[in-house]
Order: sequence, then structure tokens, then C-alpha cells
Amino acid sequence: MSASQSMARAARPMLGRVREVPPEARKLAQERSKRPLLCVVDVSVSFDGFRALTDLTLVLGDGELRCVIGPNGAGKTTLMDVITGKTVPDRGSVFFFEEQRDLISCSEHEIARRGIGRKFQRPTVFPGHTVRENLELAIKTNKGVWHSLFGHPSGPERQRIAEILETVGLQAHQTTAAGTLSHGQKQWLEIGMLLAQDPKVLLVDEPVAGMTHQEVEHTAQLLTSLAGKHTVVVVEHDMDFVRSIAQETVTVLHEGKILCEGSMDAVKSDPRVIEVYLGE
Ligand code: ADP
Ligand code: MG
Repeated sequence: MSASQSMARAARPMLGRVREVPPEARKLAQERSKRPLLCVVDVSVSFDGFRALTDLTLVLGDGELRCVIGPNGAGKTTLMDVITGKTVPDRGSVFFFEEQRDLISCSEHEIARRGIGRKFQRPTVFPGHTVRENLELAIKTNKGVWHSLFGHPSGPERQRIAEILETVGLQAHQTTAAGTLSHGQKQWLEIGMLLAQDPKVLLVDEPVAGMTHQEVEHTAQLLTSLAGKHTVVVVEHDMDFVRSIAQETVTVLHEGKILCEGSMDAVKSDPRVIEVYLGE
């Protein structure tokens, strides 16, 4: 962590004060989306003088499936780190319209609790537990240690687990130990565990890395099925995968800035995008 990062982190408790969405950000968000949910405004992040993100502004609509693409080192993961509170930006804000407030003053844990879930690349399932037990644990995490250790799932919780198993396509594997699942199945279980927390926003970073062709197809269907109920942000380097799921806006990041934003067709024929992808 750089000196400026540590200072920003140390300063966070003092920020304490809740910043509401200022009129300029509200206006910008409404110009770009009919129903804005999350608005990243003028965010800059530097690591020891190196600019990972520069004056980045991005508006996500409620229920949207947004793809963020860009070559390696473009700043995609850093953007997710900022939204989830893992990295404190040098400047800028992340307004969450659901709660009419700036998330910059919140801890990582608090941001997760407020409904912004993130799936990491390496699955963090409990390998010795069955698929169903993993989902039970995830659903009960919200309810405190006592309930997670000793409580039996209630009727509505069992119902929710059944829905999630169906959504992620693991009904046939509910009694399988998570550790013996294939790489793709583990990823879907982890998406299921995130769904158990009922997030408003779901961030997934390079979800199909290391998957077989069939697993990639299943993941594409799963992510598109989640949009609408959730706002889904898919960060991906692989242009072909993005092409198979992009519904509305695609954001292209390059060197910490937005290179262009638009439909998949518009983005893929943009000469600037072709150039940065060919230049890799
Ligand atoms: P992407 O996910 O698009 O590949 P990242 O957001 O991981 O890109 O990284 C953007 C740039 O910031 C890269 O050049 C990377 O080396 C740098 N970077 C990311 N995290 C750190 C860190 N913790 N310390 C120093 N440099 C970092
Ligand atoms: Mg990355």
C-alpha cells in the first residue's frame, strides 16, 4: 500500500460524516441513466505516483448488466476495489442511489452489508461442506454466529436455497462436497453464495478465466439471467465472452481512463479499441 493509500485509509474513520448525493452528481446520473443506482464520480487512484485510475466517472443503471473491458493493467480490478471499499481513492466519490449516500466513508464490510457483493477470481467456498451446506452458511451469515452454527434453516430459507440451486444450475449437486466440484461449478456455487446475501449490485472479476467452453456458456446464461433483479458488473479481458453477454452499455477502460462507452457493436468497431487490443 502506498503512503497516500495508507493516509487515505487512516483518514477514513474521520470522514464518518455521510455525504449525500450532491445535485451535480444527481444531474449527471440522470442524464446517463433512467434509473441510476451507482455513480462513480471523478475517481483517481495512484499507487506510489503511478495513476491506476484518472478522473473516472461511470454511471450504472438499476438492474443493468454492465461489461467493463480493457487490456491488462487498464484499471478494471482497481475500479472494483474502489466500489467495494478495498481501495480508498485519492479523490472522488461513489454514490449509491439506493441509500442516497457516498460509500467512500464506509468500510469494506459495511459496503458488502449494504448490498454490494463481489465475486473474487479464486473461489472461497468451504471445500469439506456440501453445496447445500455452503449455501446454508451463506444465507445465515447475516444472522450472527449463534444462528449460523446451531440454527436449522427456516422454511423461507430452504425455499431461497432451492431457488438459488436452480438459478446457478447445481440442483443435482447439492449433496456433493464443494471441494470435489469442477472449477466452473465452484464459481457458480460462489455466485450462489453471493446471491444468498441478496445483493443489489454484483461485481464479478474475470468470471470465465480457466473455464471449459461449456462452463463459459453456462456462466454467460447465468450472468444474463441475474440482470434485472440485480445490477451486474462483469469485468472481463476476453472480448468474445463480453460479446456473448453484452446487452446494453459496454465500458472500455484503458490506462485508467474510459476510452469509450456504448453498445458492443459500437465499441468493437471503434478504431481506438481495436488499436489498444491489437497493441497487446
Ligand atoms: P486490470 O484489472 O485492468 O488488469 P488493475 O486495476 O489490476 O488492472 O491495475 C491497474 C494498474 O495499477 C496496473 O498497472 C497495476 O500494476 C497497478 N496496480 C494495481 N494494484 C496495485 C497496487 N496495489 N500497488 C501498485 N500498483 C498497483
Ligand atoms: Mg484485473
